[in-house]
Amino acid sequence: MTGSVLARAVACAVLLASIYPYGSPVKAESNPAVAKDARVAGDRERTRFIADLSKKVDVNVFALGNPYRVIVDAPDVNFQMPDGVGKEKRGLVTAYRYGLFAPGKARIVLDISGPFLIDKTFVLEARDDQPARLVIDLVPTDENTFLAKLKESRSPQAASAAPSALAQASSRPADAKPVVVLDPGHGGVDPGTSSATGITEKEVVLDFARALKAKLEATGRYEVFLTRDDDTFLPLRGRVELAQKKGAGLFLSIHADYFPKQTDKATGATVYTLSEEASDEEAKALAAKENFSDALAGVELPSDSDEVLANILIDLAQRETQNRSVTFARSIVGELAGKGSLHTRKLRSAGFRVLKAPDIPSVLLELGFLSNPDDEKRLTSDAWRDNTAAAVAESIDVYFAKRIARNPY
Ligand SMILES: [Zn+2]
Repeated sequence: MTGSVLARAVACAVLLASIYPYGSPVKAESNPAVAKDARVAGDRERTRFIADLSKKVDVNVFALGNPYRVIVDAPDVNFQMPDGVGKEKRGLVTAYRYGLFAPGKARIVLDISGPFLIDKTFVLEARDDQPARLVIDLVPTDENTFLAKLKESRSPQAASAAPSALAQASSRPADAKPVVVLDPGHGGVDPGTSSATGITEKEVVLDFARALKAKLEATGRYEVFLTRDDDTFLPLRGRVELAQKKGAGLFLSIHADYFPKQTDKATGATVYTLSEEASDEEAKALAAKENFSDALAGVELPSDSDEVLANILIDLAQRETQNRSVTFARSIVGELAGKGSLHTRKLRSAGFRVLKAPDIPSVLLELGFLSNPDDEKRLTSDAWRDNTAAAVAESIDVYFAKRIARNPY
């Protein structure tokens, strides 16, 4: 029975995912279920994941490989878990996380240490003083069996879902205001990095993006959109596509970094652009970490061949865009240097997936280091946010002023 349960669950999930890659057809219920606690029991031979819920919900459970994960999707769940839940390592489960995956769609992602099968999944009704319970049983298997089950359950649509490297941009009148898309990183099920005191990257970058949006709108010169304006996850490709749909003239992805060694030494902002070869080891490691966002949130990653194709298309269209990205990056460095809050004046670059719109100048700004207690204080202070958002808004003005001076038509 194990195979068919997994196969059916995966088939259903993959089909849904291919129709609604990051949206959801499900309307949020007025009275969502509350997830109050979760735990892992058992050992490597049989590992059980249990979540306590205020009422029964419909779940969609499926497996993903590379890395090994179990994804649990439910229409609407309000997570009120105790602090520290998800860090316990037991049996096949190395960690888990939870949060909104899309509006009205909750997700739990379990990280699994090796090839596995979903042996059983069920949701028990609440009874007497017992809460409703979601139960998932996992058993180990070999790599070939795992891959065979995944393949068996995959729909043809999902297999051909290559990244749309050259999505059609919206057509806008020539005299329209330039569109700036701000992209607060992470969100929902993916908190990003966090400080020792528990401040998460997803909160810090959303606050900053909102402040910057307000500054830009106050000039009356731009149309500004956020890729997310609440604690919801959005896949990296979805962020790029949103910028393309809005006809963005500029895309700024906003993050905060973490430097585990010498936590007091790494401080200040760093500006990154896209490149095939990373400028240095630190940039390479950072891009790998930021690109892992999709994997953390349980998004199926494009295959290597999709990536190669996307890279070829990007290469053809991107040289001019790349020059503009570097111009914008220099402008940010110039403005932030005046505020004394830069980690380095050097422009760094690496293969950031979120910067891959071939037609939109795109820059990634790491605001500072949540690992550094002084940076953490700055990142959460209204005065710092206001000042820094003003500097970045200024750098956007400088960028567009140069563009318009060079090419008035
Ligand atoms: Zn980040």
